[in-house]
Amino acid sequence: MTKTTIALDVDGVLADFNTRMRHVMAEEYGFLDPNTLKIVQWDFNHAYGLTKAEEKHLMSRIFDSNDHFPPMPGAIEGVQGLVERGHDIIITTARKDPANTQEWLELNGLDFITPYHIDLEEAPEFDYLLDDSPKKIGKLRGNIKKQAFLFDSRQNEDCTDIFNQWIRVFGWDGFLDHLDTTGYGS
Ligand SMILES: [Mg+2]
Repeated sequence: MTKTTIALDVDGVLADFNTRMRHVMAEEYGFLDPNTLKIVQWDFNHAYGLTKAEEKHLMSRIFDSNDHFPPMPGAIEGVQGLVERGHDIIITTARKDPANTQEWLELNGLDFITPYHIDLEEAPEFDYLLDDSPKKIGKLRGNIKKQAFLFDSRQNEDCTDIFNQWIRVFGWDGFLDHLDTTGYGS
């Protein structure tokens, strides 16, 4: 088996950002039921009519704690599956606070992952990327040696792959199945 390096995004791939966001929005803006909040895009100014300052405040609140910040369904088992196949795992995230990310990894038993909490400018090369953001896939284009996978989400479902940059996968099971059936990562 050829050893490969797989880069994983945090929010929307490992960590359930939307659940944390709903919790914070409910606290900040007083929704009775956080589940009524629709999260349809990343541009929160546009989606909710927030000012830039309000958006900045919201983002800092989301990352000030790991309370109500569960893993994505299947993420923990998925990472374990990749590790068992002998792959190296790194993290590529645009998050600003390494300490919060490190705490999240520890809380979820994933702190064995090579701690590349990185500035994207400093990202190394890797074979595969699993990310839910087309913007980040584009940004990391020069770092991806083999293939990017777009983790399907409500926020990216209408995005069009004009450069054939990614393969869309549905959940962790979909990603792992894809690796198995295509021979990627083996
Ligand atoms: Mg993400």
